Amino acid sequence: MSQETMRAITVYGPRDARMETVPKPEATGDMIVARVCRTGVCATDLSIFTGDSSFIRSGEIVYPCRFGHEWAGIVESVGPEVKDFKPGDRIYCDNFASCGVCDACKRGDYMACGHIRSVGTVNCWDGCFAEYMQMPERHTFHLPDELTMDEGALIEPASISYDAFRGVTLTETDTAVVYGTGAIGLISVWLAKYYGAGTVILVGRTDEKLEKGKLLGADHVINNRKTDAVAKIKELTGGLGGSFFVETSGAGAALKDCILAARRYARISVLSFYEHDLDGLPVDPLVLGCLTVVGGAGRYGNAPAVCEIMVKNPVKLTPCVSHHVPFSECLDVFENEDKYHATKIKILVDFD
Ligand SMILES: [Zn+2]
Ligand SMILES: [Zn+2]
Repeated sequence: MSQETMRAITVYGPRDARMETVPKPEATGDMIVARVCRTGVCATDLSIFTGDSSFIRSGEIVYPCRFGHEWAGIVESVGPEVKDFKPGDRIYCDNFASCGVCDACKRGDYMACGHIRSVGTVNCWDGCFAEYMQMPERHTFHLPDELTMDEGALIEPASISYDAFRGVTLTETDTAVVYGTGAIGLISVWLAKYYGAGTVILVGRTDEKLEKGKLLGADHVINNRKTDAVAKIKELTGGLGGSFFVETSGAGAALKDCILAARRYARISVLSFYEHDLDGLPVDPLVLGCLTVVGGAGRYGNAPAVCEIMVKNPVKLTPCVSHHVPFSECLDVFENEDKYHATKIKILVDFD
């Protein structure tokens, strides 16, 4: 029997991505093979395409790379050991695959697996700019009927935003400040409101995207091209500053702002990757303010947890979707990024 094939995009080097015909994955063992319906384009995908990702320079992401890590789809076939999924089921998945056989995996502590492979990035598990995906059952979840495929593809970025809120209690007296108007930023606004922050402020550089933030729960928006964001945050908080920050923009100036606009004991979550190390970070205010600065890049358990919120929260995340592009034309998103840059929040690739 000749092997079945599919179309998939592989990045061979900076600005060299090719749509190719490759073998279609097979559903062996505990593997699920699914037809991809939607794939989200992430800033990380763009930085792999351009070669600007710090993980390319460090050698943690290597070419050729079958990238793409945000997706939802429909099960096509299941391996003989798969228990809870059948063809036709709508699914979403974790953004990594554990080995399944080491001691950590046997205890279910997948984040401690020494052979972990990230979907479409570090130690690359073949990604989702492809017609089919293969994932182990332990990293696959049922997409609830209440959610559309578009929303299914937003679960992965939402699972990154969710990291900022783990172990955090927000109340009426909290002012949450989100930097960045990409999907991770807008979803962070949505979560801050959902978790009960009294005031949510969104800071960004594009008025149209800031307006979308209002739909997701921002009480105030600040365009930091036009306005001194630190001064405005202080003004809006009676001089106190914000108590909870989510930095999603990847700009050094934004992290600096977060430190300078924070009240004492505030927490700053950094969710974006920075292409370069930072100089000029104001460390003394960080120390004096007893601030907590944490990083977040997602972890096991986030995806189903945030999926549950997407079902419960009457506010939908769909304003995050700025573009739909057919898979056949999706190389254009990378090769002509400037065409999309001003208006893009989340670009979704459609396969159907
Ligand atoms: Zn991503
Ligand atoms: Zn393992």
